[in-house]
Amino acid sequence: MNGASEHDAGDPAMTELYDLRVVVDRIEGRSVCGLQPGDCFEVTESNRVRVPEGRHFCLYAMAAVLPLLPAKQRPLPDGDWMAQDSEVACPDPDERLIMRIERTGRRAIPTRDLT
Ligand SMILES: [Zn+2]
Repeated sequence: MNGASEHDAGDPAMTELYDLRVVVDRIEGRSVCGLQPGDCFEVTESNRVRVPEGRHFCLYAMAAVLPLLPAKQRPLPDGDWMAQDSEVACPDPDERLIMRIERTGRRAIPTRDLT
């Protein structure tokens, strides 16, 4: 996809990370913060957050999903629950907004650029 796989996963100078997209999967309650299914934000190159032009994202939904992203950026063993479970809810109880985390690509980033 972006040439990342040319590098050994075991190369200590490189960190293998997935780029992620967090998408509003469904809203089972009342949309409080104006999001619709399909709204999303992306995290690429470990820490770069983007919301599509002209759209916004709910701060609290984002806060709920953020702690999971560093794990989702990394390859996980098949049996790890974090590898199987990709849905997260916004904490607003009226809203019942469910997001899903998708992996959009994989890249190798020089470790020295990340730490
Ligand atoms: Zn919200």
